[in-house]
Amino acid sequence: MNSKALRVTCGENSELMLPQDEPTAKAPAPRLLVDAMLGRLVRWLRLMGYDAAYWRDGSDEALIAAAQVEGRLIVTRDHALAHRRGVCAVLIAAEGLDEQIVEARTALGGAPAPYTRCSACGGELADLPRADARDLVPPYVWATQTQFSRCILCGRVYWRGTHWPALQRRLAQD
Ligand SMILES: [Zn+2]
Repeated sequence: MNSKALRVTCGENSELMLPQDEPTAKAPAPRLLVDAMLGRLVRWLRLMGYDAAYWRDGSDEALIAAAQVEGRLIVTRDHALAHRRGVCAVLIAAEGLDEQIVEARTALGGAPAPYTRCSACGGELADLPRADARDLVPPYVWATQTQFSRCILCGRVYWRGTHWPALQRRLAQD
């Protein structure tokens, strides 16, 4: 699998490979707009490092307009939406989360920066000094963990014990 190409569906073309600009440079990961029916997947896309906004509610037209205004690639399970003229989207076929993650990774070319974004809101994570985490996490967690980070948007505190093992497992599977 060529990790430098995005596998997206554009209009009537059932599948199109969109090469990234600089194959040798580290191209920025595409920003995503994830359709409402993929609420679990969006959290994992964020854990992989994608700037992934979640579309909770609204018409297809509003979703398409938002994606264009914000420069985001649509991720959806909706065939009709993905095949609309002028729309480029990552079309997810699987119903199960594990399979959806594999499909998204394959289409998008991997995980750009695992564990750098908040799974809840998509905000970037900043290192949180261990001393500052003491009053923010359960005592057992503080006693057993050494690395903490905090979402710059919602303040949620993360440590490697939360999602890290599951993320590692899911990024390793194909
Ligand atoms: Zn957050």
